[in-house]
Amino acid sequence: MNRRLYTLAFPLIVLIFLIWTIVGAVPLASAAAWSVRPEPTRLVNGGPVLFQVKPPSKLKSLSGKWLTHQLSFNYDPSTKTWFTLAGVSFETSPGRYPLELTAELAGTMAPLTITRSFLVGRAKYPQVRVELTVEKKFTEPSPEQQAQVAEGVKIKQEYLSRVTPAREWNGKFIGPADAAISDVFGSQRIFNGTAQRPHFGLDYRVPAGTPVAAMNQGTILLARFLYYEGNCVVIDHGQGLLTLYFHLSEFKVKEGDQVKRGQEIGLSGGTGRATGPHLHVAVRWQGTYLDPASLIRLRLP
Ligand SMILES: [Zn+2]
Repeated sequence: MNRRLYTLAFPLIVLIFLIWTIVGAVPLASAAAWSVRPEPTRLVNGGPVLFQVKPPSKLKSLSGKWLTHQLSFNYDPSTKTWFTLAGVSFETSPGRYPLELTAELAGTMAPLTITRSFLVGRAKYPQVRVELTVEKKFTEPSPEQQAQVAEGVKIKQEYLSRVTPAREWNGKFIGPADAAISDVFGSQRIFNGTAQRPHFGLDYRVPAGTPVAAMNQGTILLARFLYYEGNCVVIDHGQGLLTLYFHLSEFKVKEGDQVKRGQEIGLSGGTGRATGPHLHVAVRWQGTYLDPASLIRLRLP
């Protein structure tokens, strides 16, 4: 009787132990061994962030969720680190936010979930009020001009929230022009006396005809005229990251072209709603604007 009970119970105990090991103990034991590092270490609203994940064992894949955005990671075998570029929207309030990682481990069936939370601080963007005067057609467009504005809005909605999961950027981002900065990200602007949304780009003081360089490797997503932006080039760098170049006088690329970092994509100008010739560059990550100067400062693999 006892022996019979034992033969029945033994496999059951083994099974329970196995399930406990696979489902419970292994993830708990290894979760602590995971290194999850943001670059820069201090996150702020409007700032880009590189998440670097070093797991204790080999993974098949790694994905994540951050501030409602989906993240897809790339693997660097030389450092055994998974990485992705992400960001924090300008509107994000200071606080602690979770980064949820989902890993597929080699040889295990159930995916492993790890959560780390990071503090987001408030960036110190300039509170200067930039008073600008632009032509009336930009503040009070006629019905015909309104149609052009609407067309531009439609194109921007269609293209500027694109997310190509595969990474095309490689190494650090560079400045698109070797010139002085005339206006930074996040400043408050007033056009003809009316407050606009903050300046979501970086302005370079360049005369018309200055070569404009691609900030990193990517594919030309847009190269066309838009009402406010003028002749505008948008590069898709993958992982949801786009760089935008406005008010150009001339295009040197067409949609679909592959470009290298530093490659000439156009010449600066003053097309669209510009007070004069200058280069406006912007960085979009998954539908939100990030500070280009912070992206240029970021050390990237
Ligand atoms: Zn600008």
